[in-house]
Amino acid sequence: MGRLRIKRIGVMGGTFDPIHTGHLVTAEEALHQFKLDEILFVPSGHPPHKEDRESLDPESRYIMTVIATATNPRFRVSRMEIERPGPSYTIDTVKELRRLYGANSEIYFITGADAILEILTWKEPEKLLREAMFIAATRPGYELRRLEESLPQEEKERHAVAPRVLVMEIPALAISSTDIRSRVREGRPITYLVPQGVREFIEKNGFYR
Ligand code: ATP
Ligand code: MG
Repeated sequence: MGRLRIKRIGVMGGTFDPIHTGHLVTAEEALHQFKLDEILFVPSGHPPHKEDRESLDPESRYIMTVIATATNPRFRVSRMEIERPGPSYTIDTVKELRRLYGANSEIYFITGADAILEILTWKEPEKLLREAMFIAATRPGYELRRLEESLPQEEKERHAVAPRVLVMEIPALAISSTDIRSRVREGRPITYLVPQGVREFIEKNGFYR
């Protein structure tokens, strides 16, 4: 007897330049803690917040994301941002996911604590917080209390915004793509910081040297 069940979809957006164990642990933990049905990894096209440096081409970042997630039956990768022209805005992605999955779905946008603190600098933050729930993973070096301070001042607004953000504790993982890129450049190991297939793909193509 079928009552239509709401599908709970976790969305993990990022530059994934490259994808690393921190991203994967965070996604798996969100799946478990919030009983999600699947995680959709969405590599960004042209990242609006990262214009300061050249990032690897979207196709290579997409391939590394596929390699890293291939063995997990609940992980999938979307091409929607890399195929959308112009800068990637989360609000456009959330709207497209709404269209794609329809009314019988809940979207949980998973971000690191650093990224959630940037929410209010994103395009249309109020609309974004209305369209999706947010899961903020605490990450070493980031104070989630700063999130509340950065929320709108008026108490009214505060109540409208804060309940849409869920906090998730993850094992301390001080892994970042920035550190991985400098390790490759300096000839230091990245073994276990990224999946083996990703490390081999980086070496084969001479990325980050
Ligand atoms: P960069 O160093 O280039 O900024 P990054 O490691 O932060 O890269 P992104 O692709 O920018 O990786 O991040 C995608 C998402 O994953 C963001 O929401 C970010 O906050 C989160 N994230 C990144 N690293 C970790 C980590 N070690 N643990 C938990 N979340 C992380
Ligand atoms: Mg980052």
